[in-house]
Amino acid sequence: MTAAQEDPDWAGLRAVLPRATAASRPFWDGCRRGELLLSHCNVCGHVFYYPRRHCPSCAALDPGWKRSTGRGQVFSFTVVAVSFHGSGWESQLPYTVVLVDLDDGPRMMSRLIGPGRESVASGDRVEVVFPEIDGQRLPFFRKSG
Ligand SMILES: [Zn+2]
Repeated sequence: MTAAQEDPDWAGLRAVLPRATAASRPFWDGCRRGELLLSHCNVCGHVFYYPRRHCPSCAALDPGWKRSTGRGQVFSFTVVAVSFHGSGWESQLPYTVVLVDLDDGPRMMSRLIGPGRESVASGDRVEVVFPEIDGQRLPFFRKSG
């Protein structure tokens, strides 16, 4: 299913696509399945984002994974009105970059899409969605009311 079939508001979305690393590959595989996975330390229990080989709390190696609820609230945001990726990016302007405090703990930077993105405020509730862009599903957020 393409992004446009899932939600008409997703049609035409563009993004700079990620390159998976050994540490982040399970995260991107989760996105492909519509799951937001967070790293979870098997030693101290710390839940963290972004994916990395060691726990930022206790430095233990080889953390596991925990499925996030994908829900949280906007900590802060900015509206980007200038293309940083050349003229091919202008169709995306303006777009909203959000810092989301996930209910699971970590803070995550992402993009806010969908209705109401122009009137976002700190504290707004959001939920993750996974539009497909050029074959990659990305963890973006939309307002959840
Ligand atoms: Zn730890």
